[in-house]
Amino acid sequence: MIGGGYVGLVSGTCFAEFGTDVAIVETNPDRLTALREGRIPIYEPGLDRLVEENVEAGRLTFGDDIAAAVKGADAVFVAVGTPSRRGDGQADTSYVYAAVEQIARVADGYTVIVTKSTVPVGTGREIAQIIRKTRPDLDFDVASNPEFLREGNAIQDFMRPDRVIIGTDQYKPEGTERAQNILRKLYRPLYLLETPIVFTGLETAELIKYSANSFLAMKITFINEISDLCEKVGANVNDVARSIGLDGRIGKKFLHPSPGFGGSCFPKDTRALTAIGRNAGSPVRLIETTVAVNEQRMKDMGERVITFAGGDVSGLTIGVLGLTFKPETDDMREAASIPVLDMLDKGGAKIRAFDPAGMTTARPVLPQSVTYCTDALDAAKGADILVVLTEWNEFRSLAPEKLAAEMKGRKIADLRNIWDPKAIKDAGFEYISLGRPDGV
Ligand code: NAD
Repeated sequence: MIGGGYVGLVSGTCFAEFGTDVAIVETNPDRLTALREGRIPIYEPGLDRLVEENVEAGRLTFGDDIAAAVKGADAVFVAVGTPSRRGDGQADTSYVYAAVEQIARVADGYTVIVTKSTVPVGTGREIAQIIRKTRPDLDFDVASNPEFLREGNAIQDFMRPDRVIIGTDQYKPEGTERAQNILRKLYRPLYLLETPIVFTGLETAELIKYSANSFLAMKITFINEISDLCEKVGANVNDVARSIGLDGRIGKKFLHPSPGFGGSCFPKDTRALTAIGRNAGSPVRLIETTVAVNEQRMKDMGERVITFAGGDVSGLTIGVLGLTFKPETDDMREAASIPVLDMLDKGGAKIRAFDPAGMTTARPVLPQSVTYCTDALDAAKGADILVVLTEWNEFRSLAPEKLAAEMKGRKIADLRNIWDPKAIKDAGFEYISLGRPDGV
């Protein structure tokens, strides 16, 4: 497994749990040191125990020596990052190609090289060319096995996925069969659970991942726009979402209004799909609009807080609950808190923030002046306004009276709809949330 981040570490550990011998290669010295010392460098519930058990069982190792890891391997997975390229939004495949070159140099015997990273359509074929050029003698096949795990629920998602996608070269039937057989063996425990395993060509597998993420991002953006409309016409977005979600064709999930989707996947994958579409001469206009609406929404949320404050936040103290892009992760990549706090900071506000898991990851990406607090009540201390940016469960149960006792002002902007408006208002607060008429 090349890359020991959110995807590589979870997938590698889960494959080990399935009974496979796994060597994870990680080049980031901090991450590697942590792993070698038995610490988990990311926040992912349940992962520490699973890593420990599999290391103890001798099935899971960590290192930076790619040759040692790849020697004798039946399959090598690439799980390195594919961030957005600055400027054009295309996925940056340079880490993937660099890893593949390293693999090609040291591979011995028949090897399947598998992309677990989310990669643009055509990457698998480009990888095959790189390998042929680097090692004309190597017997290999290329496969695409996109990963659908969600941070915060990653182990469950990997162990009980809705489906597994295995793409192999549709123009090379002998290779397809050999590669499929190895991947089928790896995923055998899921076969026993009757998980749908979908075999496709390379390009199809690559496009499935972008289509899935973009559809979900579009669904979030849809309910966000309906939420804005609810505010204008006096409708309640929670009731709209629940009611449309009861239609099986629509489905209940991903219909929660929010300050916009963030994270390590949706923003970059929607941008990448629009680039793939444009380059192929077949623009995906719904997703182009989704990207634009979402970017604007995050800015609007900062404005919304400023307007709620009376048009000027300079000199005000703003308590912030939640920083990560969603609960149960420490991931701050493209979190809505970044543009919102930037705007409040530029407006001259003093920001007191708390997040249950993201305090370390937040520091490098948030304004320097932010004060990091020990818990939610500490963040509320002396605040004129309290803003909820991530819906961590522990915030839901905070008693409004306790918040009132800490705060100086009486304004709450709940940008995740975690509280019941009536309870908050009864405690004497002015309260705004998303898509819900006042007082309901
Ligand atoms: P990440 O940045 O957490 O992890 C990537 C790791 O690879 C880093 O630790 C980096 O140091 C390491 N690395 C880079 N080049 C290397 C090399 N040559 N050798 C060894 N290690 C190397 O990223 P992530 O969140 O795990 O995402 C990885 C890929 O999986 C991306 O393409 C992403 O789109 C996709 N993905 C992510 C998620 C998610 O929830 N995070 C879900 C599904 C798919």
